[in-house]
Amino acid sequence: SFGDTEAQREVRKNDRDYVFHSWSAQAKIDPLPIAKGEGVRFWDYDGNEFLDFSSQLVNLNLGHQHPGLVKAIQDQAGRLATIQPAMANDVRGELAKRIVEHSFEGARSVFFTNGGADANEYAVRMARHHTGRQKVLARYRSYHGSTATAITLTGEPRRWANGTLDAGVVHFQGPFLYRSAFYAETPEQETERALAHLRATIELEGASTIAAIILESVTGTNGILVPPPGYLAGVRELCDEFGILLICDEVMAGFGRTGEWFAFQAFEVRPDLVTFAKGVNSGYVPLGGVVISEAIHDTFAERPFPGGLTYSGHPLGAAAGVATFDIFEEEGILQRVKDLGSRIVEPRLREMAEKHPSVGEVRGTGLFWAIELVRDRATREPLIPFNAAGEAAAPFNAVVAACKQAGLWPFAAGNRLQIAPPLIISEEDLVRGLDIIDAALDVADGYAAA
Ligand code: PLP
Repeated sequence: SFGDTEAQREVRKNDRDYVFHSWSAQAKIDPLPIAKGEGVRFWDYDGNEFLDFSSQLVNLNLGHQHPGLVKAIQDQAGRLATIQPAMANDVRGELAKRIVEHSFEGARSVFFTNGGADANEYAVRMARHHTGRQKVLARYRSYHGSTATAITLTGEPRRWANGTLDAGVVHFQGPFLYRSAFYAETPEQETERALAHLRATIELEGASTIAAIILESVTGTNGILVPPPGYLAGVRELCDEFGILLICDEVMAGFGRTGEWFAFQAFEVRPDLVTFAKGVNSGYVPLGGVVISEAIHDTFAERPFPGGLTYSGHPLGAAAGVATFDIFEEEGILQRVKDLGSRIVEPRLREMAEKHPSVGEVRGTGLFWAIELVRDRATREPLIPFNAAGEAAAPFNAVVAACKQAGLWPFAAGNRLQIAPPLIISEEDLVRGLDIIDAALDVADGYAAA
């Protein structure tokens, strides 16, 4: 409980003595001991309160301790806590049915995984078996997870240190008008030129060698990049022309983040495989999966699929997934997200962009936004260099510190403050968080050309 310095010391000591943390130099970190989480907030042992604008790792879509999710897990634990995947289970089947029904026309089945990386891993494996081809095209400015194929698909610095763990992966540039790789000045030009670049990549790599193209429907950690009109439909057309499968990674953007069940549903595109995790049950129990088209499902109708996981479709995770669908309906989550995004977040961010010289661009959809911080609006020089660390990252770190000081936990990535609160956030809390960000941007302004 709060003020329990003894408990806090113990938590910190065990962590420092025994827990090996992701992505970190172990001697250089000091993880914050957390005493409690409730709704859109969490607290440290000193009673400091944080409004979570990051939904933890953009997984906590329904907030901490949602009574419906907690009850579903408790009930399931009391009924049957686990059962191996070769057996049929009521909640596993029910969740698969709901996901299939809410995904895309022609979706047939779901393969459940433990999280997002292995979902992408399995989607690629299915695509390779189905097409008999090896290569997979993935975009720069993407994150697809940290297992061997997933980290190789990833198009950002977290891949660099790991080398090429899957020799079949080729990267290409996607659309990003603010920092266009194609010298485009309008969304239409960006779409047209990004598609021409993708076509050239396919032709140069050899269409007959390419099993799949994987992309985040709306890019998450690497900048909240919403595809410009016509882009996803154009990718689909290229896939059809060359017999390539389309994999939409919905691990971060899926389950309501953009105001749709799946982010691709706002665009005219039909994927062949969809990967999900995080928001499927707000991360209360680790769960991810792959939604599989009829044609790919049929490939494995007579010959066995060579893959599996002990915890595929874990009942505790599945029960929380079924409850997620119920809660989304009961609380009108998708409608709320669209409303809060367009009525509160977007106008307020546009106002901040007017007011703060450090804001180069704001962009996003639903409850999924980015504020791109720059030193100079004219040159678009980022507030800190790409992949900056240490002293070079100090200006950005100062902005993040100002947010935390004021009680807001932001989603910080590169030179961007990103906004991804739990989807249950009240209008009042949303405005409170945006007020804190607005004030913290004064710190960024101190580094920017007026
Ligand atoms: N794909 C996307 C788009 C993600 O954002 C993430 C995680 O942040 C992953 C895949 C990997 O998911 P996990 O960490 O559950 O393996």
